[in-house]
Amino acid sequence: MEVSENLRYIKSQIESACERSGRNPEEITIIAVTKYVDADRTQEAVKAGITHLGENRDEGLLAKWEILKDKPVWHFIGTLQSRKVKNVINKIDYLHSLDRFSLAKEINKRTEKPLKCLVQVNVSGEESKHGIEPSKVLDFIKSLEGFKNIRVSGLMTMAPHIEDEEALRECFRSLKKIQSEVQELNLVYAPCKELSMGMSNDFGVAVEEGATMIRIGTALVGMGGQ
Ligand SMILES: *Cc1c(COP(=O)(O)O)cnc(C)c1O
Repeated sequence: MEVSENLRYIKSQIESACERSGRNPEEITIIAVTKYVDADRTQEAVKAGITHLGENRDEGLLAKWEILKDKPVWHFIGTLQSRKVKNVINKIDYLHSLDRFSLAKEINKRTEKPLKCLVQVNVSGEESKHGIEPSKVLDFIKSLEGFKNIRVSGLMTMAPHIEDEEALRECFRSLKKIQSEVQELNLVYAPCKELSMGMSNDFGVAVEEGATMIRIGTALVGMGGQ
């Protein structure tokens, strides 16, 4: 499938979800997750009109970062080891996986300008998932106050791989609730406007529940080898 065709379908799904929930599709940024595909397919996504790209490993990011001349907005969405911070930090616009104090400290030291970060929250409580426990998010964000190069632009979560729509919805609602608690803190460094939630199989529900960034791989660019 051509990326442009997939993109049309995804946009129509976003529009329906927005109609159901009284939202404006312009509030939602589509991030094309290109971790499964090569640079050519990534270029195809850019030609189709995608301006935001996401990678979850430093190798993948660096390989494509070199090649793409019309610089997209880069999102790093994977777990980031502290020792790899220096490889990626000055090439990305957003980090979706801020999940520990030591990582914030390393970023604060290495970045050349304040970095927009999303705090990853493990809403579902699955052990396999990274992220901060919901009950610890506020204290974590408060603890970042001294880091002048960290901006908490929002929150990110990965929903469990389940079919149960109500359970998914609950997960996204919980993240939205934590967002309003963070916003009530009125911290200058933590406007927390973004909610990065929703992937190929659940972005419709995520949009209904307030997502401002959706991270789409499979449904948009495929799994590679096409
Ligand atoms: C791979 C990945 C995605 C995209 O997953 P799809 O199901 O292929 O859309 C989104 N977010 C994160 C953090 C990922 O690692």
